[in-house]
Amino acid sequence: MADAAMQPKAPPGRRKKKPKQLAYITEACTGCAGSPVCQSYCPVDECMILVQNPGASTFGVIEVNPLACIGCKKCTAKGPEGTFLDGCPWDAIVMVDIDEFETKYGELPF
Ligand code: SF4
Ligand code: SF4
Repeated sequence: MADAAMQPKAPPGRRKKKPKQLAYITEACTGCAGSPVCQSYCPVDECMILVQNPGASTFGVIEVNPLACIGCKKCTAKGPEGTFLDGCPWDAIVMVDIDEFETKYGELPF
């Protein structure tokens, strides 16, 4: 995912408390041909947003709003110790520690 896509936005579903981890969309995201499976797993409105892929304008990709994500992991396909979960069928979502995220992108304004 492009760095610019990870910049915090001013979301409607903004969190008051920091989660320990955030969902991060990798370059493996296909946009699910315009019908993102992951959105159906996410319990937070306006958290996973389909946007135009800057590298391939005919395709979409998901962006996670870092100020809305609660770190619940429902969108991921990987569970603890290598187990598999219902989640992105393309394994395009990883969880990142919020400390790591903020080191790279700056402190989030919770
Ligand atoms: S993150 Fe996975 S489930 Fe969501 S749109 Fe991308 S490929 Fe589809
Ligand atoms: S971790 Fe939970 S809140 Fe965050 S994007 Fe995934 S499903 Fe949504």
